[in-house]
Amino acid sequence: MNTPHTAMPPLLQQPLRLLIDGQWVGCASGARMDVINPSTGEVLAQEALGGAADIHQAVQAARRALEAGPWARMRPAERTRLLLKLADALDQHGDELALLETLNTGKPLKVARLFDVGHAAECLRYNAGWATKLNGETRAVSLHGDWHAYTLREPVGVVGLIVPWNVPLAMAVSKIAPALAAGCTVVLKPAELTPLTALRLGELIVAVGFPPGVVNIVTGLGTEAGQALVAHPGVDKVSFTGSTAVGKAILGSAAGNLKRVALELGGKSPVFIFPDADLDRAIDAAARGIFSNTGQVCAAGSRLFVHRSVAERVVEGVARRARQLRVAPGLVADAEIGPVISARQRERVMAYVASGRAEGAEVVAGGEAIDGAGYFIQPTVMVNTAPAMKVVREEIFGPVLCVQQFDDDSLEQLAARGNDTDFGLSSSIWTRDLRTAHQMVRRLKAGNVRVNAAAALDFAMPFGGYKQSGWGRENGREGVEAYTELKSVAIDLN
Ligand code: NAD
Repeated sequence: MNTPHTAMPPLLQQPLRLLIDGQWVGCASGARMDVINPSTGEVLAQEALGGAADIHQAVQAARRALEAGPWARMRPAERTRLLLKLADALDQHGDELALLETLNTGKPLKVARLFDVGHAAECLRYNAGWATKLNGETRAVSLHGDWHAYTLREPVGVVGLIVPWNVPLAMAVSKIAPALAAGCTVVLKPAELTPLTALRLGELIVAVGFPPGVVNIVTGLGTEAGQALVAHPGVDKVSFTGSTAVGKAILGSAAGNLKRVALELGGKSPVFIFPDADLDRAIDAAARGIFSNTGQVCAAGSRLFVHRSVAERVVEGVARRARQLRVAPGLVADAEIGPVISARQRERVMAYVASGRAEGAEVVAGGEAIDGAGYFIQPTVMVNTAPAMKVVREEIFGPVLCVQQFDDDSLEQLAARGNDTDFGLSSSIWTRDLRTAHQMVRRLKAGNVRVNAAAALDFAMPFGGYKQSGWGRENGREGVEAYTELKSVAIDLN
Protein backbone atom coordinates (compact mmCIF):
# COMPACT_ATOMS: atom_id res chain seq x y z
CA MET A 1 0.00 0.00 0.00
CA ASN A 2 1.36 3.39 -0.93
CA THR A 3 1.52 6.19 1.55
CA PRO A 4 1.26 9.69 0.07
CA HIS A 5 4.43 11.70 0.48
CA THR A 6 4.16 14.36 3.15
CA ALA A 7 6.55 16.87 4.73
CA MET A 8 8.00 15.51 7.97
CA PRO A 9 7.14 17.48 11.12
CA PRO A 10 10.12 19.31 12.74
CA LEU A 11 10.13 16.88 15.70
CA LEU A 12 11.34 14.15 13.34
CA GLN A 13 14.22 16.26 12.04
CA GLN A 14 16.12 16.22 15.34
CA PRO A 15 17.27 13.56 17.82
CA LEU A 16 14.44 12.64 20.21
CA ARG A 17 15.27 13.38 23.82
CA LEU A 18 13.82 13.24 27.32
CA LEU A 19 12.17 16.16 29.11
CA ILE A 20 13.62 16.43 32.61
CA ASP A 21 13.36 19.55 34.78
CA GLY A 22 12.37 21.69 31.82
CA GLN A 23 15.41 20.65 29.76
CA TRP A 24 15.62 18.35 26.74
CA VAL A 25 18.36 15.83 27.50
CA GLY A 26 19.74 12.57 26.14
CA CYS A 27 19.33 9.39 28.18
CA ALA A 28 22.08 8.32 30.55
CA SER A 29 22.87 5.08 28.70
CA GLY A 30 22.81 6.63 25.21
CA ALA A 31 20.66 3.68 24.07
CA ARG A 32 18.15 4.33 21.29
CA MET A 33 15.32 2.44 19.59
CA ASP A 34 13.69 2.85 16.19
CA VAL A 35 10.21 4.36 16.07
CA ILE A 36 8.32 2.65 13.24
CA ASN A 37 5.52 3.79 10.94
CA PRO A 38 3.14 0.79 11.05
CA SER A 39 1.63 1.72 7.68
CA THR A 40 4.96 1.18 5.93
CA GLY A 41 7.35 -0.51 8.33
CA GLU A 42 9.71 2.45 7.83
CA VAL A 43 11.77 4.04 10.59
CA LEU A 44 10.44 7.49 11.53
CA ALA A 45 12.94 8.41 14.23
CA GLN A 46 14.98 7.00 17.05
CA GLU A 47 13.81 7.50 20.58
CA ALA A 48 16.03 7.68 23.65
CA LEU A 49 15.69 4.59 25.84
CA GLY A 50 15.51 6.04 29.32
CA GLY A 51 16.32 3.82 32.27
CA ALA A 52 16.49 3.88 36.05
CA ALA A 53 19.04 6.75 36.18
CA ASP A 54 16.86 8.99 33.98
CA ILE A 55 13.74 8.11 35.93
CA HIS A 56 15.55 9.03 39.13
CA GLN A 57 16.49 12.45 37.73
CA ALA A 58 12.92 13.00 36.55
CA VAL A 59 11.40 11.99 39.89
CA GLN A 60 13.77 14.30 41.75
CA ALA A 61 12.87 17.18 39.43
CA ALA A 62 9.17 16.47 39.96
CA ARG A 63 9.71 16.41 43.73
CA ARG A 64 11.53 19.75 43.71
CA ALA A 65 8.78 21.30 41.58
CA LEU A 66 6.13 19.92 43.94
CA GLU A 67 7.72 21.17 47.15
CA ALA A 68 9.50 24.37 46.18
CA GLY A 69 9.37 26.81 43.34
CA PRO A 70 6.52 28.46 41.47
CA TRP A 71 4.26 25.42 41.07
CA ALA A 72 4.10 24.82 44.81
CA ARG A 73 2.91 28.42 45.35
CA MET A 74 0.72 28.70 42.27
CA ARG A 75 -2.89 29.63 42.93
CA PRO A 76 -5.53 27.22 41.55
CA ALA A 77 -6.80 29.83 39.07
CA GLU A 78 -3.32 30.10 37.59
CA ARG A 79 -3.21 26.34 37.11
CA THR A 80 -6.55 26.64 35.31
CA ARG A 81 -5.14 29.31 33.00
CA LEU A 82 -2.04 27.27 32.18
CA LEU A 83 -4.13 24.19 31.36
CA LEU A 84 -6.38 26.30 29.11
CA LYS A 85 -3.32 27.74 27.37
CA LEU A 86 -2.07 24.23 26.74
CA ALA A 87 -5.47 23.27 25.28
CA ASP A 88 -5.27 26.23 22.90
CA ALA A 89 -1.73 25.25 21.94
CA LEU A 90 -2.94 21.75 21.08
CA ASP A 91 -5.60 23.23 18.83
CA GLN A 92 -3.11 25.60 17.20
CA HIS A 93 -0.72 22.74 16.47
CA GLY A 94 -3.51 20.26 15.86
CA ASP A 95 -2.59 19.41 12.27
CA GLU A 96 1.01 18.73 13.19
CA LEU A 97 0.07 16.62 16.22
CA ALA A 98 -2.44 14.66 14.13
CA LEU A 99 0.20 14.02 11.48
CA LEU A 100 2.63 12.74 14.11
CA GLU A 101 -0.07 10.49 15.56
CA THR A 102 -0.99 9.14 12.14
CA LEU A 103 2.63 8.49 11.20
CA ASN A 104 3.27 6.68 14.49
CA THR A 105 0.03 4.67 14.79
CA GLY A 106 -1.26 4.45 11.21
CA LYS A 107 -4.72 5.71 12.18
CA PRO A 108 -6.66 7.85 9.67
CA LEU A 109 -5.50 11.45 9.72
CA LYS A 110 -8.99 12.87 10.13
CA VAL A 111 -9.61 10.59 13.11
CA ALA A 112 -6.31 11.68 14.66
CA ARG A 113 -7.21 15.35 14.14
CA LEU A 114 -10.85 15.20 15.29
CA PHE A 115 -10.72 12.51 17.91
CA ASP A 116 -7.20 12.15 19.28
CA VAL A 117 -6.12 15.79 19.26
CA GLY A 118 -9.63 17.23 19.70
CA HIS A 119 -10.27 14.88 22.61
CA ALA A 120 -6.97 15.84 24.27
CA ALA A 121 -7.70 19.58 24.02
CA GLU A 122 -11.20 19.15 25.45
CA CYS A 123 -9.86 16.96 28.23
CA LEU A 124 -7.51 19.76 29.26
CA ARG A 125 -10.39 22.27 29.22
CA TYR A 126 -12.64 20.04 31.29
CA ASN A 127 -9.99 19.39 33.92
CA ALA A 128 -8.78 22.99 33.95
CA GLY A 129 -12.05 23.93 35.64
CA TRP A 130 -11.51 21.47 38.45
CA ALA A 131 -8.36 23.21 39.72
CA THR A 132 -10.56 25.83 41.43
CA LYS A 133 -13.20 23.40 42.64
CA LEU A 134 -11.30 20.81 44.66
CA ASN A 135 -12.78 21.62 48.03
CA GLY A 136 -12.90 19.86 51.31
CA GLU A 137 -15.95 20.38 53.50
CA THR A 138 -16.87 21.10 57.08
CA ARG A 139 -18.17 18.09 59.03
CA ALA A 140 -20.79 18.05 61.75
CA VAL A 141 -18.89 16.06 64.37
CA SER A 142 -20.39 14.85 67.67
CA LEU A 143 -17.27 15.12 69.79
CA HIS A 144 -17.73 16.53 73.27
CA GLY A 145 -17.55 20.31 73.42
CA ASP A 146 -16.91 22.79 70.69
CA TRP A 147 -15.02 21.71 67.57
CA HIS A 148 -14.29 22.94 64.10
CA ALA A 149 -13.81 19.91 61.85
CA TYR A 150 -13.23 19.88 58.14
CA THR A 151 -11.53 18.04 55.31
CA LEU A 152 -8.78 19.29 53.03
CA ARG A 153 -7.92 17.98 49.57
CA GLU A 154 -4.21 18.07 48.83
CA PRO A 155 -2.24 16.91 45.79
CA VAL A 156 -1.23 13.27 46.17
CA GLY A 157 2.32 14.27 45.19
CA VAL A 158 4.66 13.07 42.47
CA VAL A 159 2.75 10.86 40.05
CA GLY A 160 4.12 8.32 37.58
CA LEU A 161 1.96 8.06 34.47
CA ILE A 162 2.32 5.06 32.15
CA VAL A 163 0.29 4.88 28.95
CA PRO A 164 -0.22 2.46 26.02
CA TRP A 165 0.15 2.94 22.26
CA ASN A 166 -3.43 2.83 20.99
CA VAL A 167 -4.41 6.46 21.64
CA PRO A 168 -1.06 7.91 22.69
CA LEU A 169 -1.71 11.66 22.92
CA ALA A 170 -5.23 11.50 24.29
CA MET A 171 -4.20 8.88 26.84
CA ALA A 172 -1.21 10.92 28.05
CA VAL A 173 -3.36 14.03 28.37
CA SER A 174 -6.16 12.13 30.13
CA LYS A 175 -3.70 11.54 32.98
CA ILE A 176 -1.64 14.74 32.87
CA ALA A 177 -4.68 17.06 32.88
CA PRO A 178 -6.35 15.89 36.12
CA ALA A 179 -2.98 15.39 37.83
CA LEU A 180 -1.96 18.99 37.13
CA ALA A 181 -5.42 20.34 37.96
CA ALA A 182 -5.01 18.71 41.37
CA GLY A 183 -1.59 20.34 41.82
CA CYS A 184 0.56 17.22 41.38
CA THR A 185 3.77 17.00 39.40
CA VAL A 186 4.30 14.13 36.97
CA VAL A 187 6.72 11.83 35.21
CA LEU A 188 5.17 10.46 32.02
CA LYS A 189 6.41 7.22 30.43
CA PRO A 190 4.88 6.93 26.94
CA ALA A 191 4.58 3.55 25.22
CA GLU A 192 7.87 2.70 23.53
CA LEU A 193 6.10 2.16 20.21
CA THR A 194 4.47 5.61 20.18
CA PRO A 195 6.53 8.35 21.83
CA LEU A 196 6.10 11.09 19.20
CA THR A 197 3.02 13.06 20.24
CA ALA A 198 3.99 12.88 23.91
CA LEU A 199 7.31 14.55 23.08
CA ARG A 200 5.63 17.25 20.98
CA LEU A 201 3.19 17.74 23.86
CA GLY A 202 6.22 18.21 26.11
CA GLU A 203 7.49 20.99 23.85
CA LEU A 204 4.11 22.72 24.07
CA ILE A 205 4.04 22.29 27.85
CA VAL A 206 7.38 24.10 28.08
CA ALA A 207 6.29 26.75 25.57
CA VAL A 208 3.07 27.72 27.38
CA GLY A 209 4.98 28.26 30.61
CA PHE A 210 4.59 25.31 32.98
CA PRO A 211 7.49 25.63 35.46
CA PRO A 212 10.43 23.21 35.06
CA GLY A 213 9.92 19.80 36.63
CA VAL A 214 6.12 19.94 36.72
CA VAL A 215 5.91 17.62 33.71
CA ASN A 216 8.80 15.30 32.92
CA ILE A 217 8.75 12.83 30.03
CA VAL A 218 10.98 9.77 29.96
CA THR A 219 10.66 7.54 26.90
CA GLY A 220 11.83 3.95 27.13
CA LEU A 221 10.90 0.34 27.58
CA GLY A 222 8.24 -0.79 30.02
CA THR A 223 10.56 -3.31 31.58
CA GLU A 224 13.19 -0.64 32.24
CA ALA A 225 11.89 2.94 32.43
CA GLY A 226 8.35 1.82 33.30
CA GLN A 227 9.48 -0.64 35.93
CA ALA A 228 11.90 1.92 37.46
CA LEU A 229 9.13 4.51 37.67
CA VAL A 230 6.72 2.12 39.37
CA ALA A 231 9.33 0.96 41.87
CA HIS A 232 10.76 4.42 42.66
CA PRO A 233 10.30 5.33 46.34
CA GLY A 234 9.95 9.03 45.46
CA VAL A 235 6.75 8.40 43.49
CA ASP A 236 3.53 8.78 45.50
CA LYS A 237 1.10 7.36 42.95
CA VAL A 238 1.18 5.44 39.69
CA SER A 239 -1.58 5.74 37.16
CA PHE A 240 -1.29 3.02 34.55
CA THR A 241 -3.26 2.26 31.40
CA GLY A 242 -2.36 -0.93 29.59
CA SER A 243 -2.75 -4.67 29.65
CA THR A 244 -4.13 -6.58 32.62
CA ALA A 245 -0.96 -8.71 32.79
CA VAL A 246 1.30 -5.66 33.20
CA GLY A 247 -1.22 -4.08 35.58
CA LYS A 248 -0.85 -7.06 37.88
CA ALA A 249 2.95 -6.87 37.69
CA ILE A 250 2.79 -3.18 38.59
CA LEU A 251 0.94 -3.94 41.80
CA GLY A 252 3.89 -5.96 43.04
CA SER A 253 6.49 -3.35 42.08
CA ALA A 254 4.48 -0.51 43.65
CA ALA A 255 4.29 -2.25 47.01
CA GLY A 256 7.69 -1.00 48.24
CA ASN A 257 6.40 2.37 49.47
CA LEU A 258 2.72 1.41 49.18
CA LYS A 259 2.24 4.05 46.53
CA ARG A 260 -1.31 4.60 45.35
CA VAL A 261 -2.10 2.69 42.15
CA ALA A 262 -4.77 3.37 39.55
CA LEU A 263 -5.22 0.81 36.78
CA GLU A 264 -7.11 1.12 33.49
CA LEU A 265 -6.76 -2.32 31.95
CA GLY A 266 -8.15 -4.58 29.27
CA GLY A 267 -11.68 -5.52 28.30
CA LYS A 268 -13.82 -8.07 26.48
CA SER A 269 -16.95 -6.00 26.29
CA PRO A 270 -20.34 -7.46 25.35
CA VAL A 271 -22.88 -5.87 22.99
CA PHE A 272 -26.48 -7.13 23.23
CA ILE A 273 -28.86 -6.67 20.32
CA PHE A 274 -32.49 -7.47 21.13
CA PRO A 275 -35.04 -8.13 18.37
CA ASP A 276 -36.93 -4.85 19.00
CA ALA A 277 -33.80 -2.69 18.53
CA ASP A 278 -33.34 -0.14 15.77
CA LEU A 279 -31.31 -2.67 13.82
CA ASP A 280 -29.73 -0.31 11.31
CA ARG A 281 -28.27 1.81 14.07
CA ALA A 282 -27.31 -1.24 16.12
CA ILE A 283 -25.51 -2.83 13.17
CA ASP A 284 -23.60 0.34 12.41
CA ALA A 285 -22.63 0.78 16.06
CA ALA A 286 -21.60 -2.87 16.46
CA ALA A 287 -19.29 -2.53 13.45
CA ARG A 288 -17.82 0.75 14.62
CA GLY A 289 -17.51 -0.57 18.16
CA ILE A 290 -15.10 -3.31 17.11
CA PHE A 291 -13.40 -1.93 13.98
CA SER A 292 -12.68 1.68 15.03
CA ASN A 293 -8.99 2.24 15.72
CA THR A 294 -8.48 -1.22 14.16
CA GLY A 295 -10.03 -2.80 17.24
CA GLN A 296 -7.24 -1.47 19.42
CA VAL A 297 -9.63 0.01 21.95
CA CYS A 298 -9.91 -1.15 25.55
CA ALA A 299 -13.70 -0.73 25.49
CA ALA A 300 -14.16 -2.35 22.04
CA GLY A 301 -17.41 -4.31 21.76
CA SER A 302 -15.67 -7.57 20.96
CA ARG A 303 -18.42 -10.04 21.98
CA LEU A 304 -21.71 -9.61 20.15
CA PHE A 305 -24.79 -11.33 21.59
CA VAL A 306 -27.65 -11.16 19.07
CA HIS A 307 -31.16 -12.58 19.29
CA ARG A 308 -31.62 -15.56 17.01
CA SER A 309 -34.60 -14.00 15.23
CA VAL A 310 -32.48 -11.10 13.92
CA ALA A 311 -29.08 -12.79 13.90
CA GLU A 312 -28.92 -13.36 10.15
CA ARG A 313 -29.69 -9.72 9.35
CA VAL A 314 -27.32 -8.36 12.00
CA VAL A 315 -24.42 -10.65 11.14
CA GLU A 316 -24.80 -9.97 7.44
CA GLY A 317 -24.97 -6.21 8.14
CA VAL A 318 -21.83 -6.16 10.27
CA ALA A 319 -19.99 -8.48 7.86
CA ARG A 320 -20.92 -6.24 4.91
CA ARG A 321 -19.58 -3.23 6.79
CA ALA A 322 -16.37 -5.19 7.55
CA ARG A 323 -15.88 -5.96 3.85
CA GLN A 324 -16.61 -2.38 2.77
CA LEU A 325 -14.29 -0.61 5.20
CA ARG A 326 -11.37 1.05 3.46
CA VAL A 327 -8.28 -0.41 5.12
CA ALA A 328 -5.36 1.83 4.23
CA PRO A 329 -2.50 3.93 5.61
CA GLY A 330 -3.87 6.79 7.66
CA LEU A 331 -2.50 9.40 5.25
CA VAL A 332 -4.70 8.05 2.42
CA ALA A 333 -7.62 10.48 2.24
CA ASP A 334 -10.48 7.97 2.46
CA ALA A 335 -8.80 5.55 4.90
CA GLU A 336 -11.25 4.29 7.52
CA ILE A 337 -9.13 1.64 9.23
CA GLY A 338 -5.36 1.75 9.60
CA PRO A 339 -2.89 -1.03 10.39
CA VAL A 340 -2.39 -2.62 13.78
CA ILE A 341 0.53 -1.13 15.68
CA SER A 342 3.30 -3.64 14.93
CA ALA A 343 4.28 -6.82 13.15
CA ARG A 344 4.11 -8.56 16.53
CA GLN A 345 0.58 -7.33 17.15
CA ARG A 346 -0.45 -8.54 13.68
CA GLU A 347 0.97 -11.99 14.42
CA ARG A 348 -0.84 -12.02 17.76
CA VAL A 349 -4.20 -11.12 16.21
CA MET A 350 -3.79 -13.62 13.38
CA ALA A 351 -2.92 -16.34 15.91
CA TYR A 352 -6.24 -15.62 17.64
CA VAL A 353 -8.13 -15.91 14.33
CA ALA A 354 -6.40 -19.25 13.68
CA SER A 355 -7.25 -20.47 17.17
CA GLY A 356 -10.90 -19.49 16.67
CA ARG A 357 -11.04 -21.46 13.43
CA ALA A 358 -9.33 -24.43 15.09
CA GLU A 359 -11.90 -24.39 17.90
CA GLY A 360 -14.80 -24.45 15.44
CA ALA A 361 -15.68 -20.79 14.83
CA GLU A 362 -16.58 -19.76 11.29
CA VAL A 363 -15.14 -16.63 9.68
CA VAL A 364 -17.83 -14.81 7.69
CA ALA A 365 -15.83 -11.68 6.88
CA GLY A 366 -12.10 -10.97 6.71
CA GLY A 367 -9.87 -13.38 8.57
CA GLU A 368 -6.64 -12.66 6.70
CA ALA A 369 -3.64 -10.41 7.05
CA ILE A 370 -3.16 -8.07 4.09
CA ASP A 371 0.12 -8.51 2.20
CA GLY A 372 2.50 -5.59 2.06
CA ALA A 373 4.97 -3.63 4.12
CA GLY A 374 2.44 -2.28 6.64
CA TYR A 375 0.74 -4.30 9.36
CA PHE A 376 -2.76 -4.50 7.92
CA ILE A 377 -5.49 -7.00 8.82
CA GLN A 378 -8.92 -7.48 7.29
CA PRO A 379 -11.76 -6.52 9.63
CA THR A 380 -13.01 -9.91 10.77
CA VAL A 381 -16.33 -11.36 11.92
CA MET A 382 -16.50 -14.82 13.50
CA VAL A 383 -19.75 -16.69 14.14
CA ASN A 384 -20.45 -19.96 15.94
CA THR A 385 -18.23 -18.86 18.76
CA ALA A 386 -18.68 -20.36 22.21
CA PRO A 387 -17.92 -19.18 25.76
CA ALA A 388 -14.94 -21.49 26.29
CA MET A 389 -13.08 -20.46 23.15
CA LYS A 390 -9.87 -18.49 23.51
CA VAL A 391 -11.17 -15.83 21.10
CA VAL A 392 -14.13 -15.27 23.39
CA ARG A 393 -12.23 -15.33 26.67
CA GLU A 394 -9.11 -13.28 25.88
CA GLU A 395 -8.70 -9.68 24.78
CA ILE A 396 -7.54 -9.76 21.13
CA PHE A 397 -7.03 -5.98 20.78
CA GLY A 398 -7.59 -6.17 17.04
CA PRO A 399 -10.48 -5.90 14.54
CA VAL A 400 -12.07 -9.25 15.38
CA LEU A 401 -15.71 -9.63 16.40
CA CYS A 402 -17.00 -12.84 18.02
CA VAL A 403 -20.73 -13.45 17.60
CA GLN A 404 -22.95 -15.59 19.81
CA GLN A 405 -26.72 -15.94 19.59
CA PHE A 406 -29.34 -15.95 22.31
CA ASP A 407 -32.89 -17.18 22.16
CA ASP A 408 -35.32 -17.43 25.02
CA ASP A 409 -32.72 -16.72 27.71
CA SER A 410 -34.07 -14.76 30.66
CA LEU A 411 -32.40 -11.39 31.20
CA GLU A 412 -30.73 -13.02 34.22
CA GLN A 413 -29.22 -15.73 32.03
CA LEU A 414 -28.27 -13.34 29.30
CA ALA A 415 -26.53 -10.92 31.66
CA ALA A 416 -24.72 -13.91 33.21
CA ARG A 417 -23.45 -14.84 29.74
CA GLY A 418 -22.24 -11.27 29.26
CA ASN A 419 -20.62 -11.28 32.70
CA ASP A 420 -18.88 -14.60 32.04
CA THR A 421 -15.49 -12.93 31.61
CA ASP A 422 -12.57 -11.82 33.76
CA PHE A 423 -13.10 -8.28 32.51
CA GLY A 424 -15.75 -5.64 33.26
CA LEU A 425 -14.94 -2.48 31.38
CA SER A 426 -17.85 -1.66 29.11
CA SER A 427 -21.05 -3.03 27.58
CA SER A 428 -23.88 -1.88 25.36
CA ILE A 429 -27.51 -2.76 25.02
CA TRP A 430 -29.74 -2.26 21.99
CA THR A 431 -33.47 -2.40 22.71
CA ARG A 432 -36.49 -0.08 22.64
CA ASP A 433 -37.93 -1.72 25.75
CA LEU A 434 -37.28 0.32 28.90
CA ARG A 435 -37.70 -2.61 31.21
CA THR A 436 -35.17 -4.71 29.30
CA ALA A 437 -32.72 -1.82 29.19
CA HIS A 438 -32.88 -0.98 32.90
CA GLN A 439 -32.81 -4.59 34.04
CA MET A 440 -29.77 -5.32 31.90
CA VAL A 441 -28.00 -2.14 33.09
CA ARG A 442 -28.38 -3.28 36.69
CA ARG A 443 -27.21 -6.82 36.04
CA LEU A 444 -24.12 -6.11 33.95
CA LYS A 445 -20.85 -6.05 35.84
CA ALA A 446 -19.15 -3.29 33.89
CA GLY A 447 -17.90 0.18 34.70
CA ASN A 448 -19.61 1.70 31.67
CA VAL A 449 -22.95 0.74 30.13
CA ARG A 450 -24.47 2.35 27.04
CA VAL A 451 -28.04 1.98 25.87
CA ASN A 452 -28.77 2.52 22.17
CA ALA A 453 -25.52 4.40 21.76
CA ALA A 454 -22.38 3.67 19.80
CA ALA A 455 -20.03 5.69 21.95
CA ALA A 456 -20.59 8.02 24.86
CA LEU A 457 -17.22 9.33 25.96
CA ASP A 458 -17.67 12.47 28.00
CA PHE A 459 -15.21 13.92 30.47
CA ALA A 460 -17.95 14.41 33.03
CA MET A 461 -18.58 10.65 33.13
CA PRO A 462 -16.29 8.43 35.19
CA PHE A 463 -14.57 5.76 33.11
CA GLY A 464 -13.03 2.56 34.43
CA GLY A 465 -13.50 -1.09 35.02
CA TYR A 466 -15.02 -3.69 37.29
CA LYS A 467 -13.13 -6.93 37.98
CA GLN A 468 -9.84 -7.34 36.09
CA SER A 469 -10.46 -4.26 33.95
CA GLY A 470 -8.91 -2.11 36.60
CA TRP A 471 -8.90 -0.09 39.78
CA GLY A 472 -10.34 3.40 40.03
CA ARG A 473 -11.99 5.79 37.60
CA GLU A 474 -10.78 8.47 35.24
CA ASN A 475 -12.81 11.57 34.25
CA GLY A 476 -15.39 13.47 36.23
CA ARG A 477 -14.92 14.64 39.80
CA GLU A 478 -13.73 11.15 40.72
CA GLY A 479 -10.96 11.33 38.12
CA VAL A 480 -9.44 14.51 39.57
CA GLU A 481 -10.02 13.54 43.19
CA ALA A 482 -8.01 10.41 42.45
CA TYR A 483 -4.96 12.68 42.32
CA THR A 484 -5.60 14.03 45.83
CA GLU A 485 -5.19 12.87 49.40
CA LEU A 486 -7.94 13.68 51.87
CA LYS A 487 -6.90 15.18 55.18
CA SER A 488 -9.28 15.38 58.15
CA VAL A 489 -8.68 18.35 60.44
CA ALA A 490 -10.20 18.67 63.90
CA ILE A 491 -9.70 21.85 65.95
CA ASP A 492 -10.64 21.89 69.60
CA LEU A 493 -12.32 25.25 70.28
CA ASN A 494 -13.08 24.54 73.91
P1 NAD B 1 1.14 -2.88 27.87
O1 NAD B 1 0.60 -3.25 29.20
O2 NAD B 1 2.05 -3.81 27.20
O3 NAD B 1 1.95 -1.50 27.97
C1 NAD B 1 1.36 -0.33 28.48
C2 NAD B 1 2.46 0.57 29.01
O4 NAD B 1 3.09 -0.09 30.12
C3 NAD B 1 3.57 0.88 28.03
O5 NAD B 1 4.01 2.22 28.22
C4 NAD B 1 4.67 -0.09 28.44
O6 NAD B 1 5.96 0.36 28.10
C5 NAD B 1 4.49 -0.12 29.94
N1 NAD B 1 5.00 -1.32 30.60
C6 NAD B 1 5.13 -2.57 30.08
N2 NAD B 1 5.65 -3.40 31.01
C7 NAD B 1 5.83 -2.66 32.13
C8 NAD B 1 6.30 -2.97 33.45
N3 NAD B 1 6.69 -4.19 33.78
N4 NAD B 1 6.33 -1.98 34.35
C9 NAD B 1 5.91 -0.74 34.04
N5 NAD B 1 5.47 -0.39 32.82
C10 NAD B 1 5.41 -1.35 31.88
O7 NAD B 1 -0.13 -2.51 27.02
P2 NAD B 1 -0.19 -2.12 25.49
O8 NAD B 1 0.00 -3.35 24.70
O9 NAD B 1 0.71 -0.95 25.24
O10 NAD B 1 -1.69 -1.58 25.37
C11 NAD B 1 -2.77 -2.39 25.14
C12 NAD B 1 -3.52 -2.69 26.43
O11 NAD B 1 -3.94 -1.48 27.06
C13 NAD B 1 -4.77 -3.48 26.19
O12 NAD B 1 -4.88 -4.50 27.13
C14 NAD B 1 -5.88 -2.46 26.41
O13 NAD B 1 -7.11 -2.98 26.77
C15 NAD B 1 -5.30 -1.60 27.45
N6 NAD B 1 -5.96 -0.28 27.47
C16 NAD B 1 -6.83 0.01 28.49
C17 NAD B 1 -7.50 1.22 28.51
C18 NAD B 1 -8.47 1.58 29.61
O14 NAD B 1 -8.79 2.76 29.76
N7 NAD B 1 -8.97 0.64 30.39
C19 NAD B 1 -7.29 2.14 27.48
C20 NAD B 1 -6.41 1.79 26.45
C21 NAD B 1 -5.74 0.58 26.47
